Amino acid sequence: MKCNKRLKCLFFAVASFILFTGCTMEDIAKKNGKDNGVTTKIFAMNTVMNMTIYGESIESAKKILAEAEQEIYQLEALFSATMKNSDISYINENAGKSPVKVSEQTITMIEKAKEIQKLTNGAFDITVSPVVKAWGFTTRNFRVPKKEEITKLISYINSDWITINKEEQTVFLEKPGMAIDLGGIAKGYTADYLSNWFEQKGVASGILSLGGNVIGIGLHNGNKWGVALQDPLNENASVGILKIGNQSVVTSGGYQRNFEKDGKIYHHIINPKTGYPAEEGLISVTIISSDGTKADGLSTALFVMGIEQAVDFWRQSNDFEAIFITEDRRVLATEGIADDFQFTGESQGYQYSTIFKK
Ligand code: AMP
Ligand code: MG
Repeated sequence: MKCNKRLKCLFFAVASFILFTGCTMEDIAKKNGKDNGVTTKIFAMNTVMNMTIYGESIESAKKILAEAEQEIYQLEALFSATMKNSDISYINENAGKSPVKVSEQTITMIEKAKEIQKLTNGAFDITVSPVVKAWGFTTRNFRVPKKEEITKLISYINSDWITINKEEQTVFLEKPGMAIDLGGIAKGYTADYLSNWFEQKGVASGILSLGGNVIGIGLHNGNKWGVALQDPLNENASVGILKIGNQSVVTSGGYQRNFEKDGKIYHHIINPKTGYPAEEGLISVTIISSDGTKADGLSTALFVMGIEQAVDFWRQSNDFEAIFITEDRRVLATEGIADDFQFTGESQGYQYSTIFKK
């Protein structure tokens, strides 16, 4: 079986990072004049993360970034589904047995995940975990589960069976066999958390790319940030550039993590109703919103819904915009983002067609 590694969303600060590729941090800062930009790259939450911030001085920006790295590791230690001592492992081990005391941040995350499950009518559901595990996406021991196994495991999916006691600060999974997985939302939450954290540290400008999640902090020299939208079929290409301010851009796609078995590709975004990878004609969904956690949950959910349901859902909402790429290579955008999206995908065979209106 072949595993395609997760691709990261490309970003750049209005062309400057592309020009500066290969330079040292100091070079970047010098070329940006008074900007004092510093970049760091780390591996956390199973993905590559890039953070660039512009501080008072290079020294202070470096110090703040080093602290930010520690913040990420701390969140990972709470939310990881594979680390033995994480809050999530602890909750899962005690499914059907007893409520467990967890950190305030874990409670906030699970509450938010439950809200998104309700909002999306179950297209996003963190209790999908037993099925994600059965397909091997948690451990990378990929396999195609038997139909009967899937039928049994989908009976454990329902976020209504997660009980949160805010006074006691506990979480309880009511049914034995249940488990939760924050993989569809944790990076979005981390991006929101860090963006607030940086602002508290006095950072007025920066851009973070946490796997498929990009978040802008303020502007760069008075300009919006440019974020390249990944071509799902070619890891070295993009299909366009999005301009964002203080916003998140989150992409979900089957190309990000998958395996091949007997000529068929199985990817990591599961339809909680069927227990199988969602196959609704989409190859990627990008959400643009000032709420990064929600954007992350919705990118996963709208991928599961498919284009028609996703557009209906967007029409009933007012806090996000979206760009969809279909299997037949159409790039479709919602009207609120169209002016900030420059399509460049013709040469790769994409067609920019519909702009959805409310
Ligand atoms: P994302 O890359 O944000 O779309 O999230 C995908 C990850 O979320 C997967 O690797 C699983 O860990 C988890 N996941 C898969 N399907 C769902 C779903 N329908 N709802 C919630 N989480 C999911
Ligand atoms: Mg997501």
